[in-house]
Amino acid sequence: MKILFIGPQGSGKSTQAKLLAKYLKITYLSTGDIFRKISLEKSSAEGQRIRHLLESGHLVDDETTAEIVKKRVTEEDCQNGFILDGYPRNLNQVQLFDPGFDQAIFLNVPAEQVIERLTKRGRADDTPELIKKRLELYFNETQPILNYYRKLGKLIEIDGQGEIDQIQNKIRDEIS
Ligand code: AMP
Repeated sequence: MKILFIGPQGSGKSTQAKLLAKYLKITYLSTGDIFRKISLEKSSAEGQRIRHLLESGHLVDDETTAEIVKKRVTEEDCQNGFILDGYPRNLNQVQLFDPGFDQAIFLNVPAEQVIERLTKRGRADDTPELIKKRLELYFNETQPILNYYRKLGKLIEIDGQGEIDQIQNKIRDEIS
């Protein structure tokens, strides 16, 4: 089972994706986590390049991202399936490498609410300016992916407002 989680930053997507991965006993993968780890490799040029991109609220280039994901999903722990959080982020990435998801779960939370949640989270890239930038990127580039998976009949839309457990139960009810 290969599942994509899609939704704005601060929608609770990572929390829900991790819970579902545990329940289904499949691997949870987050491209944000992968890039944050690479960005800590201070001595490598690649690490520094990625750290600058993350700190300025930009996306990592599509080719690098697609390559990393393509390689990662061939590893042993992904052979029974995986949940991917954070990739693809735009239609170009879908074209470069589409992992062949069985289902795409869209966690829908209104913009005002995600801004409030992100402001409280306080991660290094959660400054008001970067939050705005990442949300703009999300609405302009990531949201169009929804239609792609909708047309394939793979999209499940979940209202992401409410209690963590209730939302998780709704997701479990909807996946097949
Ligand atoms: P996230 O934890 O998903 O909010 O991702 C944190 C940061 O990692 C983003 O702001 C991007 O700089 C980078 N990133 C994560 N996923 C992708 C992706 N699919 N394409 C490009 N950059 C990404």
